[in-house]
Amino acid sequence: MAVHDEIGRLVGNTAFEDLEITLMAFWKKYSICFPSHQVFQEGNGLDLRRCIPVYMHGDEGRSFKKSGVLLINLQGAIGKGSEPFLKKHELNERFRQISMGLNIGGHSLHSFASRLLYCSMQRKFYAKQPQVLENLLDNLATQLLRLQQGFEYRQQKWHIVLLGVKGDLPWLTKAAGFQRHFLRAQRSLNRKSKEPPVGVCFLCHAGRSRVPYEDFSDGAAWTRDGCDLPWSRAPSMSRLYHDPFQPSALYKLDIFHNFHGGAGKDWVASAMTEALSLIPGTSRDAKIDSMAQIMRQWGRIGPQNRPHSGDFCVDRIGLTSYQVCPDSSWSKHNDTTIYMRFLQYFLHARPEHAQNEKLSLIYKATCAINLSFQLLYEAKSKIHQQGALLSGKGFVERADVMYINGYMR
Ligand SMILES: [Zn+2]
Repeated sequence: MAVHDEIGRLVGNTAFEDLEITLMAFWKKYSICFPSHQVFQEGNGLDLRRCIPVYMHGDEGRSFKKSGVLLINLQGAIGKGSEPFLKKHELNERFRQISMGLNIGGHSLHSFASRLLYCSMQRKFYAKQPQVLENLLDNLATQLLRLQQGFEYRQQKWHIVLLGVKGDLPWLTKAAGFQRHFLRAQRSLNRKSKEPPVGVCFLCHAGRSRVPYEDFSDGAAWTRDGCDLPWSRAPSMSRLYHDPFQPSALYKLDIFHNFHGGAGKDWVASAMTEALSLIPGTSRDAKIDSMAQIMRQWGRIGPQNRPHSGDFCVDRIGLTSYQVCPDSSWSKHNDTTIYMRFLQYFLHARPEHAQNEKLSLIYKATCAINLSFQLLYEAKSKIHQQGALLSGKGFVERADVMYINGYMR
């Protein structure tokens, strides 16, 4: 890229004249969030104006005949901006250029230009030989280390700095060799196991004895500072700059994945169940049919309001009886977004929800969650802190109550 004078592509296609000012502004903000990151260590010889932040992303997908294939790519941390962001700043191109949009979507920059493929490998080549994947990542770490040390571009020394490794939990677990991960959850409290549970999270001690991972309250045990390393042997990527106080934070969780494919699905299932009480009648099936009818009508506004999983029905949230804990069944994460918007619409149109403590909390929390994600989608690289805090705080407070209710069902 340096040879072809295309370095700006790693910074959302920023013009060369704006690169240094953009990067400086980026690192200034980054230092507020991650002051102990090694990139800010004195004496490392880095000129932050010429340090380009990137992420590595890995994904195991399906290839022809459903055989697995691994894709690893590198992508600039600063992008062109999401579509909502571009729309918001439609008229001011210069502002857009220097305001650091996210590197997601954005119709004006094709993913071929914003995701730089490092490798693709069929699963059969590494599934039974973990060493193959380890060697591959070690090789990538060595190349990234060289780029971190510096390369020449327009007669000056530039650097590439890896901020993190992204991907879903199965990929992160494999890439880093985590010993504490989501598959280590102890399913039943009564299970007699000689070994204490090792934990489910690489960033904290959630899932260990007396550290319940379902606890969403402010003072939850897993929010306490300090945690052991989640691996027995440090992964190759930790040869690169990272935060020495939390080396595992180099591996990044994806809030979109975690919410829309996890906690959000539980939320929707419980909230839809509670919302049925606003539909007149006594028969559960009749109420579900009416809810489906209301949702279908709402879906006529446009395809963005129609879930991929089809009409709302008993099976959609596993509501075979009011005695079971409901559970959403869809696999498309976007369906969670659609249901979240529908819940807000449904409850807003029925102000009587305010008479019921639970429904009133559900409405406020749903609005807060939707606002949080809207802010994230529209965001620059660092979102407006006050807005995020307000909406986030609302979510956590209300989610806390709802989760307790949900688990007491
Ligand atoms: Zn955790």
